[in-house]
Amino acid sequence: MTQQQLIADTDPHRLARTISGFNLIGGELTPARSGRTFPVVNPANGREIGQAAHSDAGDVEQAVAAAARAQPAWAAMAARKRGTLVAECARLLAGHVEELGRLVALETGKALRTESRVEASVVADALQFYGGLGSELKGETVPFDPGMLTFTQREPIGVVGVIIPWNAPMMLMALKIAPALVAGNTVVVKSAEEAPLAVLRVCQILNQKLPPGVLNIVSGDGPVCGAPLVAHPQVGKVTFTGSVETGRIVARTAGEKLIPVTLELGGKSPMIVMDDADLPRAVTGAVSGMRFTRQGQSCTAASRILVHEKVHDAFVAQLKARVDAMKMGDPLDEATDIGTIISRAQLDKVLGYIESGRAEAGATAHECAQLPSGDALREGLFVRPVIFTGLGNGSRLAREEIFGPVTCVIRFSSYEEAIAMANDSDYGLAATIWTRDLKTALDATRRLHAGFVQVNQNIVVQPGLSYGGVKQSGLGREASLEAMLDHFTHKKTVLLNMS
Ligand code: ADP
Repeated sequence: MTQQQLIADTDPHRLARTISGFNLIGGELTPARSGRTFPVVNPANGREIGQAAHSDAGDVEQAVAAAARAQPAWAAMAARKRGTLVAECARLLAGHVEELGRLVALETGKALRTESRVEASVVADALQFYGGLGSELKGETVPFDPGMLTFTQREPIGVVGVIIPWNAPMMLMALKIAPALVAGNTVVVKSAEEAPLAVLRVCQILNQKLPPGVLNIVSGDGPVCGAPLVAHPQVGKVTFTGSVETGRIVARTAGEKLIPVTLELGGKSPMIVMDDADLPRAVTGAVSGMRFTRQGQSCTAASRILVHEKVHDAFVAQLKARVDAMKMGDPLDEATDIGTIISRAQLDKVLGYIESGRAEAGATAHECAQLPSGDALREGLFVRPVIFTGLGNGSRLAREEIFGPVTCVIRFSSYEEAIAMANDSDYGLAATIWTRDLKTALDATRRLHAGFVQVNQNIVVQPGLSYGGVKQSGLGREASLEAMLDHFTHKKTVLLNMS
């Protein structure tokens, strides 16, 4: 079946059923070869909304074969033409923002107004951005020897394996597939078990414009479906976002194969609030930076908020008041600010951290906002946001990634102490500093060990800005022009002897 003019369907329940049970390989929606599927559950009420294909190595084989078949013709197309097609995909997606927002809200529990609809529009934005970059795939001439014309050229790697998580599945997928495709690679995506439907729908929409086999997607378990994708001999590059543990497994296999890998892993991002900071602004930054509207399920969540002792109590009071005013509820309800945790396993993990924090001497857990009432959401995976005070930077809660609506506000008395605490972490993804003093701000941007540092704001990854971590937070950069050039092409050097 070739994909023809898909009509947007804003009833997410119907749409979930329509695309249930499929992979998308070679332009066709196809079930797993075994015929097996697994349930996709709405975390707001525990009910099944559809099924996803339970793919294994055989399905991965088919998808990689389709991508490998499509790759030479795709690479032979003028780079600008590939970019134009990707930009046309962005325009197509713009007509599906509402349905994609609703579908991802249904399967992830992220509130439609504050998160899911926003994510859907960023997907189109990312494709639009990369769609304009085809002509940037330039080489250089090298003044090596007057008798030799020496130049470099950028060449695609071939078939790229893309492994994505569930927290912002469409956006993270878009930031990987768009540069890979514009650079002339073909792609096989492996979706996350918890959120396979919205990304499948995105790929189905994109397949209306892209030649068959250029973009393929399979769903399944990490070890059963993701691992064979990484290990496949025809996959020449893997780009992965997920946990540090799985990142290591992926990197190990890639290391055996000697192929390049990009890893976007966890974070424990510090937010330093100096005593001269604009406090209300910093509080707003903490609310958005901690991604309370995404239940804290973000790699860059400001989960360590370091506050100068002079403003600590005022900051905590204001932050608590702001989070208290947020409404938890049905993710599809426009009035809802905060939806649910993704899964029972994740919920148990988050609750375990909260319990362990409460047990620490001197700790106070400030629980904020109210759980939704009513029978419809009784089985929903809701966790009230918690702001901890009285914990040190050595606490488990300040060192490990919780991936839930839990942050620690930690007191400091000097700038040097704050910088030392901020950098005393296994992670180094993002960091922010809040101050009115330019010298302090600039000094901190130099000294903070992180890949993405902001002053007096905390916005999410944006198309055009290199994004990625140091230390355990990962390898490589995404979202920018350099990300496309450095991570999705090989540079070939050519010497032409003219004597
Ligand atoms: P999380 O804890 O956020 O679910 P994971 O790292 O487990 O993070 O999962 C991120 C992605 O990696 C998912 O798509 C998952 O299926 C996939 N994955 C899990 N294990 C493996 C593996 N051994 N090889 C390849 N991919 C895997």
